[in-house]
Amino acid sequence: MLPEIGVILDAGSGIFRTRDLIETEHLDILLSHVHLDHVIGLTFLFDVLQGKDVTVTVHVCAEKISTIEAHLFDPLLFPVQPNFIIRAFDGDSIKLHDGSSVATIPLQHPGGSHGFRFDWDTTSLAYITDTTADTNASYIEPIKGVTTLVHECYFSDGFEEKAELTGHSCLTPVAQVAAMAEPDRTYLVHINPLNESDVPLDLDSVASIYGNLEVAFDGQVIDV
Ligand SMILES: [Zn+2]
Ligand SMILES: [Zn+2]
Repeated sequence: MLPEIGVILDAGSGIFRTRDLIETEHLDILLSHVHLDHVIGLTFLFDVLQGKDVTVTVHVCAEKISTIEAHLFDPLLFPVQPNFIIRAFDGDSIKLHDGSSVATIPLQHPGGSHGFRFDWDTTSLAYITDTTADTNASYIEPIKGVTTLVHECYFSDGFEEKAELTGHSCLTPVAQVAAMAEPDRTYLVHINPLNESDVPLDLDSVASIYGNLEVAFDGQVIDV
């Protein structure tokens, strides 16, 4: 979440945490894609917004709007009409409620996914999930030079086949992508929840490729 500008990136189960962080009268929720782990939180919005005078626009790739409406909000699954406006994006940018624009970046993932890049006066942020990191990936160019990169890293090394199959990333290719895009720092997110290791990703093993990696944790606050 970017509380100061009222933006939430994806709507997973963690969206309940945003309730105490809302600072604006309007929220823009940007969906990378509509796999359940990225949209289930749309059904939590009644609780998130309970007692608050806040309006919400959900931005979703045009071809996927019907999936949200017909399936996630099928009355047998969820018997209340959504409490947000849903808006399609199909170009290379999204206009936010405050009039500013966010670049959309197509990613490689089953059914497709989009990353987002925010550029402000002195800083910038790219959010890249879900995708298979690859040094030939087309999304590297649009994220070049970004200040802060938030990149998925579902798998540690050794799960390359699974990563390819599921459209997720292993650690070394993420480090290689970061080395090419040259962000000041990179936070790793969307780590396999079945990986309960104290050190889920061996950052030392890729330190010679790119040194400014950090495994993000729930509730972490960063300045961008
Ligand atoms: Zn996905
Ligand atoms: Zn996902």
